[in-house]
Amino acid sequence: MNTHIQDRLGRPLTDLRISVTDRCNFRCRYCMPPEIFDKDFKFLPRNDVLTLEEIAHLTTLFVKASGIKKVRITGGEPLLRQNVTHLITLLNEIKGIEDIAMTTNGTLLPKYAKSLKAVGLNRVTISLDCLDDEKFRYINGRNIGVQSVLTGIDSAVEAGLKVKINMVVKRGMNEEDILPMAKYFKDSGIILRFIEYMDVGNTNGWKLDHVVSKKEIFSIINKEMPIEPIEANYEGEVASRFKYKDNNNEIGIISSVTDTFCSTCSRARLSADGKLVTCLFATKGHDLKELIRTGASEDQLVERIKDIWVSRNDRYSEERLQQTDKKAIRKIEMSHIGG
Ligand code: SAM
Ligand code: SF4
Ligand code: SF4
Repeated sequence: MNTHIQDRLGRPLTDLRISVTDRCNFRCRYCMPPEIFDKDFKFLPRNDVLTLEEIAHLTTLFVKASGIKKVRITGGEPLLRQNVTHLITLLNEIKGIEDIAMTTNGTLLPKYAKSLKAVGLNRVTISLDCLDDEKFRYINGRNIGVQSVLTGIDSAVEAGLKVKINMVVKRGMNEEDILPMAKYFKDSGIILRFIEYMDVGNTNGWKLDHVVSKKEIFSIINKEMPIEPIEANYEGEVASRFKYKDNNNEIGIISSVTDTFCSTCSRARLSADGKLVTCLFATKGHDLKELIRTGASEDQLVERIKDIWVSRNDRYSEERLQQTDKKAIRKIEMSHIGG
């Protein structure tokens, strides 16, 4: 069994997030603002996007380089990628991969949930930012109603997938939806996780004032429905976990801005065009596609992955806490690397 390699800050490489497309059927205003991601926007040309076989091949190399066991498929919207079910089949065949998850906006789950489960997907995280239909139609920039996501959630549950919900909280957008969302999912057996709005990419006009902090989210819920902290499931878990005192059901808060977790960050990200990205806030990635397509040997690729990881010293969120003047740096868009 391969041991995990460690970066310059002693952090192991334990899991891989794979973006399978930079396209999306939503235009969430905090991620792909419709004015920028409009009909003239140049998405990646098809030839620049890794094939499903290349993705699976690279995943085996990550297993060889660092014994990763977990992968998460994301995007853009991963269910827009043709034959994504086949990718899950390929990943499920890789010796060493024990857990395959996906983050999705949920709208296409009624079509795919059953077949995804059948070929080895274990878990889905479905994004939903409020239950107010009019507001949701505005946030997603495509006038798509809440019901299509709720139907997607139902299909995932029916298919036997483990389901979590992600809600990005942005001041002025949906802080008043924290309580209705918490109430809605409290007795559902589905874990709801609140995410502090982050300054990923360059297009979403992020300001610190827009962040509703973990502390504030905690107190909004705790006032109405008392909650208490519980232990992390494992080292490096990004969500702080809480449980309701009356029914023991769980919620999470991901505090990437006000209570950072860089010191245990053990995820690598692979962009749709085959770049290895070592931090969500990176300014660029390391091109693995070029290496595969120009005939690098398996050993060379494994060594390259190791080299990149052992040189890593990213700790953007910790640095952000100390210094806020980062505006001039050009970062990779969220829809490119998938959160
Ligand atoms: N399209 C899929 C979805 O929305 O679930 C997968 C990709 S999306 C980029 C992954 C996650 O990132 C979603 O849960 C989304 O809400 C979150 N996200 C996007 N932009 C964000 C931001 N600026 N701050 C915090 N979370 C963000
Ligand atoms: Fe699409 Fe997900 Fe970004 Fe929304 S958050 S625009 S659904 S990639
Ligand atoms: Fe990891 Fe970068 Fe996020 Fe820190 S800022 S937790 S290093 S992805």
